[in-house]
Amino acid sequence: MAPTSPLSSSSPHGLYDLTIIGGGASGMVAAISAARRGRRTLICEKSPSLGRKLLASGGQRCNLSNTLSTDEFMERVGRDGRFMGPALEQLGGPKLREFFHGIGVKTVVHDGFRVWPETRKSSTVLEGLEQELKRLEVEVAFGCAVSTTDFQENEFRISHAGGVIRSRELLIATGGLALPKSGAAGGGYGFAESFGHRSTPRFPAGVPLLSAEQWPARCTAHTIGKAHLQVALKKYSRVARTGDLIFTKNGLRGPVVLDISREISTILEKLDEVPLWMNLCRGKNQEDWQLIFKAWRKEGDAPLCAKLMEHLPLELAEVLCELVEIEPSSRVHALKGEARDELIRVLVKTPLTITGTTGFDGAFVTRGGLRLKEVSPDTMESKLQPGLYLCGEVLDLDGPCGGFNLQWAFASGYLAGCGLGTGSAASRVGSEGSPVESWGRAR
Ligand SMILES: Cc1cc2nc3c(=O)[nH]c(=O)nc-3n(C[C@H](O)[C@H](O)[C@H](O)COP(=O)(O)OP(=O)(O)OC[C@H]3O[C@@H](n4cnc5c(N)ncnc54)[C@H](O)[C@@H]3O)c2cc1C
Repeated sequence: MAPTSPLSSSSPHGLYDLTIIGGGASGMVAAISAARRGRRTLICEKSPSLGRKLLASGGQRCNLSNTLSTDEFMERVGRDGRFMGPALEQLGGPKLREFFHGIGVKTVVHDGFRVWPETRKSSTVLEGLEQELKRLEVEVAFGCAVSTTDFQENEFRISHAGGVIRSRELLIATGGLALPKSGAAGGGYGFAESFGHRSTPRFPAGVPLLSAEQWPARCTAHTIGKAHLQVALKKYSRVARTGDLIFTKNGLRGPVVLDISREISTILEKLDEVPLWMNLCRGKNQEDWQLIFKAWRKEGDAPLCAKLMEHLPLELAEVLCELVEIEPSSRVHALKGEARDELIRVLVKTPLTITGTTGFDGAFVTRGGLRLKEVSPDTMESKLQPGLYLCGEVLDLDGPCGGFNLQWAFASGYLAGCGLGTGSAASRVGSEGSPVESWGRAR
């Protein structure tokens, strides 16, 4: 899609029913929801195109939701998941799929859980949203980086390099800090803070982890299925996840790592290091291994590494032997007593020390953000500033991998759009001249 021109300082100013800062997943759906209710809507997007993060999502395939019930969904989100209730009631999984079907984007579920566009292309989702925005004549100011926001004389004043936009209502949909090249810069926190909102500290979540140990670099060739990761600290021992894991040259990545990193990131703010226990052999416990070793001894005297390879990749088997100072080429019959018990201990709980994350550059989502207590979950309206709305990742709410974050962005945007423009100010003067070209006029 060819972007329209950015706003210029000479553009005439009009009064919008609402202005949305941020043309990402939540901002676009909010605009559709509001424009369908007849509101004159403007999206200010600092990038030259909409939905950059949406395009990158799910490896450019866009895992846009999942099939969990609302209750299961909120439970999986964990902390504060129930805040999502009213938004999911409006546009939870099944309704979101209907919404997309309604704008020509068919969706599919192949694994019983993840919802994808039928084309398996995020561009299909973006094109569907863009076409609907165009149909509804939502105005979009591309390359419009909002610098400050204010409320004066019953109007919001939204400043950018080209001038000031006036709006009866304002929606902050600026997302979080993950993937800065998509436009994420965190400006939205400051806009909300200027109206008295407060935010919690922000951490990268859904992010690869870095380890103190060097040995992961030797094991990068394999995906370890159903790896179980647990924080090896009494206080945080409930922090545990199971899923596929991939070693990197300096740590860990893969779905299970992205999930557990939501918790580890916050622990890392308090502690320099987070010790982990990993079970890399599909949950086999001490008793399982004792039986396996017994069976091996009966089968004959093979090299230990050859037998371990029945359960683990060679490189990992070698590393685990070395961790307990056992020669990987030693024979099964030679391995007795304490040495065997030591090896079983690291097989069941392989230790690794996490020292950091790859930061927001490598993160999928932001943990932390604008405090939920200051926002109504029923409307997404600010409790501090009437007419101000907030939605999507800018709020202190994030989910694990598996369509949780986009589902939240879409649903919260939709809910915000339902109420936007309906405030008392909405009944005032009609629209004036537009400072930007509308979708209809732009093409
Ligand atoms: C690589 C990657 C893959 C992902 N894959 C998935 C996935 O498959 N499934 C899933 O559920 N989630 C996924 N996520 C997470 C999901 O994409 C985000 O949670 C979601 O896009 C958040 O939507 P949002 O509208 O709140 O913010 P964003 O989509 O980030 O949109 C915010 C917009 O605001 C604009 N903006 C910011 N500041 C200003 C300003 N001052 N003025 C004007 N505009 C501004 C930005 O340019 C941006 O376009 C992924 C994230 C990443 C980084």
